[in-house]
Amino acid sequence: MNVSVVLFTSDLRLHDHPPLHAALDGAREVVPLFVRDRAVDAAGFAVPNRLAFLADCLRDLDAGLRERGGRLVVRSGELVREVCRAAAEAGADEVHMSADVSAYAKRREERLRRALEAEGVRLHVHDAVTTAVTPGVLTPSGSDHFAVFTPYYRHWSQKRLRDALGAPRTVRVPDGVGSEEPPSYKGISAGLAPGGETEGRRRLTAWLRHGIAAYEDRHDDLAGDATSRLSPHLHFGTVSAVEVVHRARAAGGPGAGAFVRQVAWRDFHRQLLAARPDASTADYRTRHDRWRTERTAREDIEAWREGRTGYPVVDAAMRQLRHEGWMHNRGRLLTASFLVKTLYVDWRIGARHFLQLLVDGDVANNQLNWQWVAGTGTDTRPNRVLNPVIQAKRYDPHGTYVRRWVPELARIEGAAVHEPWKLPELERATLDYPDPLIELAEGLARFRRARERD
Ligand code: FAD
Repeated sequence: MNVSVVLFTSDLRLHDHPPLHAALDGAREVVPLFVRDRAVDAAGFAVPNRLAFLADCLRDLDAGLRERGGRLVVRSGELVREVCRAAAEAGADEVHMSADVSAYAKRREERLRRALEAEGVRLHVHDAVTTAVTPGVLTPSGSDHFAVFTPYYRHWSQKRLRDALGAPRTVRVPDGVGSEEPPSYKGISAGLAPGGETEGRRRLTAWLRHGIAAYEDRHDDLAGDATSRLSPHLHFGTVSAVEVVHRARAAGGPGAGAFVRQVAWRDFHRQLLAARPDASTADYRTRHDRWRTERTAREDIEAWREGRTGYPVVDAAMRQLRHEGWMHNRGRLLTASFLVKTLYVDWRIGARHFLQLLVDGDVANNQLNWQWVAGTGTDTRPNRVLNPVIQAKRYDPHGTYVRRWVPELARIEGAAVHEPWKLPELERATLDYPDPLIELAEGLARFRRARERD
């Protein structure tokens, strides 16, 4: 066997890349290929923040391959056609790629398999590249997937992971396979994190050295920024979930245990989406909600998106999202709860807004976390409602996070910043900050009435 194509998708790295390893083992030359898939653009999934991160990843991957004597081949267009063309140009007889979970990714894989087979080329799809544990490998008795995290996690923790692979030393790419320049894009969030495997590995090493030990105690501290921020790197695969888990476990300590548990949530959502692809848009467990929509709650939705609901911690988190293309997990929980439960707006509207901006925006994690918060997903307490004031006082006790993101409130000291409506009338009048959009008790009553109908 002489030439293989390696199709990079959500695995934009050279370390711990089983498809690349397998291709290099079996072939003299390899075509490392990335296709900017037009269908992903058409579906509205290619948004500026993720495109900017992707562009960093592709440039870094190209640089890494060049250091090893190769280069990245970049194409744009219809993915199946571009892979077939690249395979034909290179005279390849095999294509290697990673398995993925979304309904679109699975359909695409099948179409690719058939088109390649028609040309006499074999497609090899590798598991446990974009997840630590392959979706579908762990199942409870009587079902094809776990619907509750705790038992899933018990099984997940006992599963032996494959060893992480090193990066190849040399990659020989055949001549005569044309490439576009790696693209360059600008995100819309000024504080967007840089992408790429070099940056992902640097962040992982720094996290294991300086951050992980305090994770269990500090991960919910909104102002402390004490989480790994590895989510976009896991989403684009610039770090490998398998390697992250191995290295975190080797670091040891309670922080490592709590952190690895969060990485398992990522696999949990992937195994669920793989089994129930429609859960990206349809309620996983309907509660017969008659949600408010863009038509019936337009102004509320707009205020939520813009971070001017009058609830400072909600507004702070929504502004962090816009500024960084990322939001703290606690912020995601309480802004989502505010939209779906206090304002009683359809979770799909919130999920869509997050996907417009999040650099780690991910169908499995985003849609299923939104469903979790909406109580239509896997939360075993589907009717719980997070009170943004109580949450703010617990997770931002000094008001530091709110003052960082809501400058209109910067001169209010301490936890008083969480309830500006309680300030003396005169002082309040000087603030350029809205009154609460809704009384929390009113939102709660509406939500309870709605769920009682269920
Ligand atoms: P850390 O706390 O350092 O966790 C390490 C890794 O574990 C994360 O990078 C992530 O891959 C995984 N992880 C952590 N929490 C969760 C979780 N609740 N569910 C699944 N995986 C998790 N995460 C995304 O990657 N993409 C999304 O689009 C996304 N949308 C979300 C929407 C809502 C409404 C909510 C409540 C959560 C969402 N999350 C999403 C999960 C979580 O908020 C982020 O993964 C986390 O905040 C990323 O920051 P970090 O890398 O510092 O996380």
